Amino acid sequence: MHDTVRTGNGLEIHATRPKPRRATNGYEVDVPELLSQVIPTPMSNRPRMDPETAKMEIARRHREIMEILGLDLTDDSLSETPERVAKMYVDEIFAGLREENFPKITVVENKMSYDEMLVEINISFNSTCEHHFLPILGRAHVAYICKGWVLGLSKFNRVVQFFAKRPQVQERATVQIQQALAKILQTNDVAVVIDAVHTCVRTRGVEDESSLTRTSKLSGAFQSNPSLRAEFFASIPSPAQLKMS
Ligand SMILES: [Zn+2]
Repeated sequence: MHDTVRTGNGLEIHATRPKPRRATNGYEVDVPELLSQVIPTPMSNRPRMDPETAKMEIARRHREIMEILGLDLTDDSLSETPERVAKMYVDEIFAGLREENFPKITVVENKMSYDEMLVEINISFNSTCEHHFLPILGRAHVAYICKGWVLGLSKFNRVVQFFAKRPQVQERATVQIQQALAKILQTNDVAVVIDAVHTCVRTRGVEDESSLTRTSKLSGAFQSNPSLRAEFFASIPSPAQLKMS
């Protein structure tokens, strides 16, 4: 593998660096293998467009939607909205539909002999309701019991955010995050709870101003051991404590 480094005086240096290898005290997550073991988001069999083509096609179609709504696309304020929306879909809010956007994760051996529950609460994320294409604003709480492998704490956020950046229903997102963490950490003892506000419920339809939706997916000891389950739920904020509205 070669890195090209451009130095200050314009010279290019070709550096050789070793291929990532499976080290004895850690390993890099195999993303295609991982994602094949997680329940899928429904996808068509059509060939995927490359990101730049996708943006052009989305912008063209979004322009048509705006025109059908009667908007004046020559107005300064609106003229670039189709391109802005297309870029937002592909690069931001739906980036989790492309496996190349999965975070780079190296799992390391647990040398601390830590064997209790680890809980990370209040992982904030934004997702998109696949029924209305409106935002879901959420918090995830994740826990696991270490079986020999540990992760940098920010990687929990990254995994949550990857699956959030898809058109979603909260139930599927919860299961995808839980299954991915169980595979990455090589243990069944993983719990995920998600609390979320659905703006499609808040801003249209029933226009509910205060509801919050909680979903959970627990497996292994979190499911079979009532006291561990109770300890986990006692460790995370109650919906009333979240102040998300
Ligand atoms: Zn919705």
